Amino acid sequence: MARVYNFGAGPSMLPLPVLEQAQRELLDYAGSGMSVMEISHRSALYEDINAKAQENIRTLLGIDDNWAVLFLGGGGSLQFSMIPMNFLTPGKVGAYADTGNFAHKAMLEAAKEGEVAVAYSSRESGYDRVPKTGEIQMPPQSAYLYITTNNTIFGTEYQEYPDTGRVPLIADCSSDILARPLPMEKFSLIYGGAQKNIGPAGVTVVIARRNFLRGRDENLPSMLNYETIMNKDSMYNTPPVFNVYIVKLVTEWILSRGGLESLQIANTRKSSIVYAAMDAHPDFYTGRARKDSRSIMNATFTLPSKELEAKFLAEAAEAGMVGLKGHRLIGGIRASMYNAMPQAGCERLAAFMEDFYQKNC
Ligand SMILES: *Cc1c(COP(=O)(O)O)cnc(C)c1O
Repeated sequence: MARVYNFGAGPSMLPLPVLEQAQRELLDYAGSGMSVMEISHRSALYEDINAKAQENIRTLLGIDDNWAVLFLGGGGSLQFSMIPMNFLTPGKVGAYADTGNFAHKAMLEAAKEGEVAVAYSSRESGYDRVPKTGEIQMPPQSAYLYITTNNTIFGTEYQEYPDTGRVPLIADCSSDILARPLPMEKFSLIYGGAQKNIGPAGVTVVIARRNFLRGRDENLPSMLNYETIMNKDSMYNTPPVFNVYIVKLVTEWILSRGGLESLQIANTRKSSIVYAAMDAHPDFYTGRARKDSRSIMNATFTLPSKELEAKFLAEAAEAGMVGLKGHRLIGGIRASMYNAMPQAGCERLAAFMEDFYQKNC
């Protein structure tokens, strides 16, 4: 078996112990004689998976049962619409920090549901930064402020989170969820598609204050109403059972690694190895993100030519490192280093970058 280092932005690597456990349990889950994919979502076995996955997430984020942990379908992208459908009430404005392609898309989807305002934008400078405290301007009648904590395509990540006072703060954490601690007291709702840090594509985790989810418009389609999903404990319809099971295993793995503080240390160390390799030759490896906005999840850079980038990708693949191609919107190179990427993968990439520079500069 030759497993590669997958630097893909999502779907991405899963922890090997999780894959091995899933493999061991695949044909016969917990003595049921069935795989997790075959058990009923109404069975005690699944209720236990559902409850434990939620409990692990609450433990990791340091939140209590006043917070709902929901498992939904539709990817991160469905949240772009569900959020305004649920919270952008008439007379109010959805305030958006436009820090990347996903933030921008979320704002465009919200504009189909109601009025939106750009509270901050780094679009003009190629989304090379995230706001600092005080740079966000919200209209007084804001229904919420929406931020994207990690901008996957451009490689920027919030270093501090805004204080919004009475205005609920909502965050798309798709690409850094459970990769570092989050000051949950500032937030009303956060969400993330699982496929970057916590599981396979096909389940989205929404973590929200129960009070915030109550009292939604009864005319919303039931499947798009957070309150329905909360009241049915994410089993209003058939949930993605296997995906939630993997989320349960991944969150157990994170707990066994010492929780989010430990992961933050490990993730910061991993990314600094790659950034150091970039910064050693800044005229060759040109970073996209401003240094003060750099992400510990996705490092993005360009090489002096498209030909060199193609050569870089091909030789990296030969050396057992795949998924390094930048997003199709902006090209270049992107190294995604989510929770399951071992430090050895980042060390191999950094050594490769130095070697590639020496041979091609
Ligand atoms: C990947 C990603 C999304 C989109 O997720 P899908 O599950 O593909 O819909 C949204 N926001 C961010 C920040 C992402 O990284």
